[in-house]
Amino acid sequence: MERTLAILKPDCVQRNLIGKVIEKIESSGFKIVAMKMIRLSKESAKGFYEVHKERPFFNDLIEYMTSGFCVPMVLEKENAVEDFRKLIGATDPAKAEEGTIRKLYATSVQENIVHGSDSPENAVKEINHFFSRHELLG
Ligand code: ADP
Repeated sequence: MERTLAILKPDCVQRNLIGKVIEKIESSGFKIVAMKMIRLSKESAKGFYEVHKERPFFNDLIEYMTSGFCVPMVLEKENAVEDFRKLIGATDPAKAEEGTIRKLYATSVQENIVHGSDSPENAVKEINHFFSRHELLG
């Protein structure tokens, strides 16, 4: 079993798509083992996206991620990291495959509904960014 971090981003929450996206996640075989609804501080968002701090879209990304509430969650499944990346689709929804969450719901490369860890190492770091041990099931 492997764990990955997902975030339902502020556009997902704002557009009342939490239920639809969770339905897709659960019906694709992922078990939700932790979940909360929070508003990220600027500091926390900057820390989370530290690897992108030199990118031209960094400031806009921080504005967007702190613009409203989001729903971080920990998902468990065999091969969770890779399988969740497949389920969400490419960063740019125009390039995402049919049936993926971003193809279905995302409106732009920035406002793309959902985050998924890109490696098992980053998944551990990202889970620790949002959750303490007593908040995780099992
Ligand atoms: P992913 O979320 O697919 O792993 P990245 O790690 O490359 O993508 O980027 C993190 C987030 O930054 C993206 O999900 C998206 O919200 C935003 N982003 C990435 N590239 C761009 C871009 N070219 N313009 C605006 N926002 C972007």
